[in-house]
Amino acid sequence: CGIIGYVGPRNAQNVLVDALRRMEYRGYDSAGIAVEADDGLVWRKKAGKLTNLEAELAEHPVPESHLGIGHTRWATHGAPTDANAHPHVSADGRVALIHNGIIENFAPLRAELEAQGVAFLSQTDSEVAAQLVAREIAGGAGLADAMRAVSRRLEGAFTLVAIDAHDPDLLVASRRNSPLVMGVGEGEMFVASDVAAFIEFTREAVEMGQDVVVEVRRDGWRGTDFEGNEVEGKPYHVDWDL
Ligand code: GLU
Repeated sequence: CGIIGYVGPRNAQNVLVDALRRMEYRGYDSAGIAVEADDGLVWRKKAGKLTNLEAELAEHPVPESHLGIGHTRWATHGAPTDANAHPHVSADGRVALIHNGIIENFAPLRAELEAQGVAFLSQTDSEVAAQLVAREIAGGAGLADAMRAVSRRLEGAFTLVAIDAHDPDLLVASRRNSPLVMGVGEGEMFVASDVAAFIEFTREAVEMGQDVVVEVRRDGWRGTDFEGNEVEGKPYHVDWDL
């Protein structure tokens, strides 16, 4: 229900948990984060309140990191359990992905992947997106191309944000009929479902259109449609207070 992605100089864990706290008012039943560490992706996810995730992080902290994603879930497919909480990490450990919305055609996509031997770890509709993106990457695509290819196949409403274990400076977000806004800081960038997630860090926001993929690095971003054609965003200044 709430989505945050961060790339920049701050410690990602703190930014992500802060942002999830600021989106709590949206309602949720589980929460999780994933960050990029030297030897791969590290993630923690818990059913229940954000305090459950915070307790887990206090006991098992994630390494200091400068790239990460966070999610609060409002379950639509699969019970609110730790395993069904986001992020979903692909079976090969390469991709972590968060999703808001509903992927209407997840059942045939899941069947297709299972027929190829992919072992699913959750009952969510969202996990198919993580496994499909990982399959594209295993086939040689970069993360942004993989997200465009997968987005073309998904039906329904989605905001997706993914990170790749092999690229410590890249967030890729995709959206169709579901909220997505970027926050542009000094040498840092945010993607979120809601400006509330990042206005304590920056008030420079960029609104994207529908059916868009954005590649976000700490020093800039690039938007395309699902075919790869460049698209513009609409920059604005957030001048209200929470
Ligand atoms: N449909 C997804 C799930 O049930 C995402 C729900 C959400 O938007 O939080 O896990």
